[in-house]
Amino acid sequence: MDITVELCSYPDLDDRIAIIRAADEVDSVFVRTERFNVLIDTLATPALCARALKLLGGHLQDRPLVVVNSHMDWDHFWGNAALPGGVPIVAHAKALERLRDPSSRQTLSDKMQESARFHDIEIITPNITFAGEEMTLHGGDLTLELIHTPGHAPDHVSVWIPEIGVCLAVDAVETPIPEVWSKAPADLRALCSSLKRIRDLKANHVVLAHGQTSAPAIVDENLSYFAALRDRVAELADEHLADPALNERPGLRLQDFVNVPAAMPAETVVFYENCHKSNLRAAVEARKATFAFI
Ligand SMILES: [Zn+2]
Repeated sequence: MDITVELCSYPDLDDRIAIIRAADEVDSVFVRTERFNVLIDTLATPALCARALKLLGGHLQDRPLVVVNSHMDWDHFWGNAALPGGVPIVAHAKALERLRDPSSRQTLSDKMQESARFHDIEIITPNITFAGEEMTLHGGDLTLELIHTPGHAPDHVSVWIPEIGVCLAVDAVETPIPEVWSKAPADLRALCSSLKRIRDLKANHVVLAHGQTSAPAIVDENLSYFAALRDRVAELADEHLADPALNERPGLRLQDFVNVPAAMPAETVVFYENCHKSNLRAAVEARKATFAFI
């Protein structure tokens, strides 16, 4: 599979920010501040990351580079091995917990089976972590506030740049829907809290890692989806709660909640149907536990 890497932007986005687009797989973001450059995520392979660094070329010469890994999902940080040695790689402390979990190795071996482009992956771990809610990078002209936004993943971090009203939401916001980490109601609540936290920033741009948009309206659409999910699950008769195919019942399918564009590739539709299935399962668990998640 040959994936193109290109630099792009959005209308009215500050020119100190560049979106690094690896076809329709994932976007990373490059931010140039007075004091240092910041790369948020390193794409899915070292080869892709190396191409991104080459494209950024001249920008990397005159000031230090700081890397942020938004979370330990393969498509966001497996490019770390292409970074120059000694580069600071910042992540939430929970990222290291995820990497210690055997499932992290399992994902790598599964992906190696799936495609030759993953054969040379070496997991490079973040070397600076923070354990609380926030960490701040003071770039001089721009401030990057790293905000812990769990729910999609326990280690997920979004970046808020207040001077220009830009939120790099990564996977906390997604179109048509984000996916919850597990069926635990607490994870669903965390995801909705993260969405509310991002909504309350009142950003001019909410830059996503998937979906190729920076429209702030996606945040409200995601919250409306979870509110509708709560309401429809509340209406279900008790005997339906254990139905493993609940997500296929009329009124409970992905398409009954959100608009799925006709042009969306079939495999992408299946991907989001599975995200919806996970979210629905967590919403059912929340109802069983009378746990308010939104
Ligand atoms: Zn992702």
